[in-house]
Amino acid sequence: MATSKTLRIAVIPGDGIGTEVMPYGLACVKAAAKIYDISLEFEEFDFASCAYYQKHGKMLPDDWKETLSKFDALYFGAVGLPEVVPDHVSLWGSLLQFRREFDQYINLRPCRLMPGVRCPLANRKPGDIDFWIVRENTEGEYSSIGGTMFPGTERETVIQETVMTRIGVDRVLKYAFDLAQSRPKKHLTSATKSNGISITMPYWDSRVEAMSPSYSDVKVDKFHIDILTAHFVQRPQHFDVVVGSNLFGDILSDLGPACTGTIGIAPSGNINPTGKFPSLFEPVHGSAPDIMGKGIANPVGMIWAGQMMLEHFGYKEAAAHMLKSVENVLARGEDSVVTADMGGHGNTKSFGDAVEQEILKGK
Ligand code: ATP
Ligand code: MG
Repeated sequence: MATSKTLRIAVIPGDGIGTEVMPYGLACVKAAAKIYDISLEFEEFDFASCAYYQKHGKMLPDDWKETLSKFDALYFGAVGLPEVVPDHVSLWGSLLQFRREFDQYINLRPCRLMPGVRCPLANRKPGDIDFWIVRENTEGEYSSIGGTMFPGTERETVIQETVMTRIGVDRVLKYAFDLAQSRPKKHLTSATKSNGISITMPYWDSRVEAMSPSYSDVKVDKFHIDILTAHFVQRPQHFDVVVGSNLFGDILSDLGPACTGTIGIAPSGNINPTGKFPSLFEPVHGSAPDIMGKGIANPVGMIWAGQMMLEHFGYKEAAAHMLKSVENVLARGEDSVVTADMGGHGNTKSFGDAVEQEILKGK
């Protein structure tokens, strides 16, 4: 819910192009806050980066949880420089700690074809693709329960369990139903595979069916994950809100944004809807070591993540204005403004500044 109190945002640029796109994300969030008179306070942190690791031998200070708990949201760039610190160390030591300790049990990604962005799918125009993917973020297929029997022998057997709890499944479904109900189409699609996975997926389906009567205005359908991925490509206009388990959601939330153009534009929210702990907003892309230091990274993912953060706080109009401003700049498609991954000759600064100026034009 929108509030008049000052919201506090922890800014964590991280590594690589995370540090390059962050200033433009911040400038755009601040511009929207100025136009809509929203009181925000920012504090920047150098941890959750490989530079911090090199200095301290760890990704986070011991009191990180206490420090970050005081914030209303975390605005995160990207983490990881595999030549300096192995990815499993940097990722597990930072982002995945936040996700677990702050119980960010929803991963939320918009999937929206923006004007002026080349769509890899034939004959699609903006408006054809505009849906949300809601991924379960804490349990499911990504449990660490299992092990190896008879290692090194011919009978070597490897087992890994899927864990679904009623609380875990119901809370992600509730979030997805609520989101669907808040949208004009009021349509929820559930990803399943109950024809092949015979215990957990029928359970998932049964929880969808159990919750459905409480949302009588929401139209519900379900698809097996294999055909669902085909539908993403062949008839993306069918979807409004799509909900999936940790693994299925993971696959869909990479496929969906890929259907809408470059990885440089997609944002992501790791959300704790209870508000007990801060939620985290970040671009989908990583630290992109191959292009870091060149100033050419596309800042849209970072800016759009900031837009999601304002929406999460309940500032719907400011968020809509921010998104529209990004779309306006994209639609103009000026060659000297648009970054190379979108076919132009601009850079991070030219695009970031253009969006900031567009936001500042006002309502
Ligand atoms: P992750 O760290 O999330 O696992 P990754 O390291 O596999 O991801 P990215 O860092 O996202 O991958 O980069 C993948 C490719 O996309 C790279 O070639 C990179 O240059 C390009 N890329 C990523 N983000 C952007 C961006 N914002 N603008 C332009 N190109 C980008
Ligand atoms: Mg990476």
